[in-house]
Amino acid sequence: MQPRSIAENGTRILQAAYCSECSGYSFPASVPGCGHCGAVPEALTTVDCNRPVQLLNVITVHAALAPGLSVPAIIGEIELCPRLVEEVRIEAESEAAVPPGTWLVPTWCEDADGGSWVFHPMPEKAAPSQGDPA
Ligand SMILES: [Zn+2]
Repeated sequence: MQPRSIAENGTRILQAAYCSECSGYSFPASVPGCGHCGAVPEALTTVDCNRPVQLLNVITVHAALAPGLSVPAIIGEIELCPRLVEEVRIEAESEAAVPPGTWLVPTWCEDADGGSWVFHPMPEKAAPSQGDPA
């Protein structure tokens, strides 16, 4: 048996929609219209967001707010695109392991609900350096 890989279905790329009317970004890219000015989908361009982002804020959620959300869950706020702040799930041991300012990378995570984006802290050597290990 071979493990199922997302590569078989085409690599997933985190994308948002850029509006040519108001220069705003909407997420996810499949929005029916611009989330800022309401422009039609034809005015939207899909842009890739598959790059490291810095964590703005982080909270731990103890109640299952969404189906399939295993708790406690670490939820972070990131600026996915300029002026577009989204709440995302973060894979980390605890809130303390991912203080604001942590660099995160998106990973597509398949689950029973079809999958979702989960953000992982970047390995320290790949991230802009701060502090030393002990
Ligand atoms: Zn717009």
